[in-house]
Amino acid sequence: MNLKKGDVIELEISKYAFEGKGIGKIKLDENDESAYVVFVDKTYPGDKVKASYSRIKKSYAEARLEEILEKSVDRTEPKCTHFGVCGGCKQQDLKYEVQAEYKELQVKEIFEKMGGLKDFEFLPIVKANNVFFYRNKLEFSFSDKRWLTVEEINQSSEIDDKNFALGFHIPRMFDRILDIDKCWLQSEESNKILNFTRNFFKSRNTSIYSTKDHKGFLRHLVIKHSHHTNDLMVNIVTSEYNEDLMKEYSDEMIKEIPEITTIVNNINTKKAQVAYGDYEEVLYGSGFINDKIGKYKFRISPNSFFQTNTLQAEKLYNTALEFADFKEDEIVYDLYSGAGTIAIYVSEKVKSIYAFEHIPEAVADAKENMKLNNVSNISFFEADLNKSFQQKLIEDKIPHADTIIADPPRSGMNPKTIQDILFVNPKKVVYVSCNPTTQVRDIKLLVENGYRLIKIQPVDMFPHTFHIENVALLVKE
Ligand code: SAH
Repeated sequence: MNLKKGDVIELEISKYAFEGKGIGKIKLDENDESAYVVFVDKTYPGDKVKASYSRIKKSYAEARLEEILEKSVDRTEPKCTHFGVCGGCKQQDLKYEVQAEYKELQVKEIFEKMGGLKDFEFLPIVKANNVFFYRNKLEFSFSDKRWLTVEEINQSSEIDDKNFALGFHIPRMFDRILDIDKCWLQSEESNKILNFTRNFFKSRNTSIYSTKDHKGFLRHLVIKHSHHTNDLMVNIVTSEYNEDLMKEYSDEMIKEIPEITTIVNNINTKKAQVAYGDYEEVLYGSGFINDKIGKYKFRISPNSFFQTNTLQAEKLYNTALEFADFKEDEIVYDLYSGAGTIAIYVSEKVKSIYAFEHIPEAVADAKENMKLNNVSNISFFEADLNKSFQQKLIEDKIPHADTIIADPPRSGMNPKTIQDILFVNPKKVVYVSCNPTTQVRDIKLLVENGYRLIKIQPVDMFPHTFHIENVALLVKE
């Protein structure tokens, strides 16, 4: 084998390797029966491409896409002008139907090949009806290092606004921000707010917080636009409070964009670049918005977690509900309960629910949300699930659950939590996950300890991205 890095080859992509990589196979010599595998970034099955080797291994190589010679029929024209540079929508150039098909296939491979699980029912992915403008929340960052386009770099004259950007991070470049003028994932009003905010502060030469010397004022812009009520929140995150400037900003913005229902200013004095503050000033309106999932209302404050795709969240919760197939007298635990949305959504189907979540504000919101919906059969606990909750169950005399619903973050469940579930010994476990890889790892542990995987169903919450949500039902043997 005498392949060299940089060598250019022509090949046809025949398989999808997920997360934007396609696979082509080549014969290294005429007599060789086995084909050599080449992974090419940013390609799809059906493409004919020219690519250059970037990494060569014994059994496979990686190659960089140089040119598409013939486009796959699965491709489509991306709508967004930032496509290819922005880290947000990585597969807007693939037809939505095919995106969904590949996500489904990926979950199947993770469960069957990686997890070695079999004899379970695999239900088809629940697709999204709205594939654009589906997000109810977007978080933009300010940066004094704007990402420049190739054209800008090549131009001879000096660029005078390269030190002001409001937009999204460039993948793997944590301090570079791509200036965004229109994002296709959130409403038109949201884009108006984004552009108004940039122009307002840029024209006043307001300073931007720098992660280097930790000086400067502007940090983030978070926009929340409720799907069902049209409530619209602007949350500007700064390093200190400047009353006069903020008054001017909010007065002018309301005049320009009267659809806004509330404006808040989160003040983050800490070094960590996070979009929530140590304290908050409400500049206009109530300081929160309301949205609905199914018939339930939820109050969303600037810093509380709420599923970002409202319409798909309803389908996700319905899948969980169907899988759980509750009986009226059941005791249920909701692990990683956030603002209490799942617990409230299933509350009328069961006797009582005990919900566990470690962020105090989320627990407070959950209690508010319970009142808002006239629900009374849920007890919300502030608890770090990475530490065992067995003691708490014993101390508070909490009855053991018939069903446990768990919806952990991307890292999945802590082995201690699995031990806790085994201690509680529920008949059913409904596992909602935003990362099938950690989900399958956890499910294997449950399967080794007497549970059987009955069925799984992916739900597409984030079209154009690689993110996959998946619901699984396990039953005690
Ligand atoms: N079920 C909710 C939230 C799911 S997101 C919904 O559908 O909206 C995952 C939640 O897990 C977040 O609210 C996060 O704060 C919480 N979480 C993360 N790590 C945790 C831990 N160690 N203990 C308890 N909760 C945790």
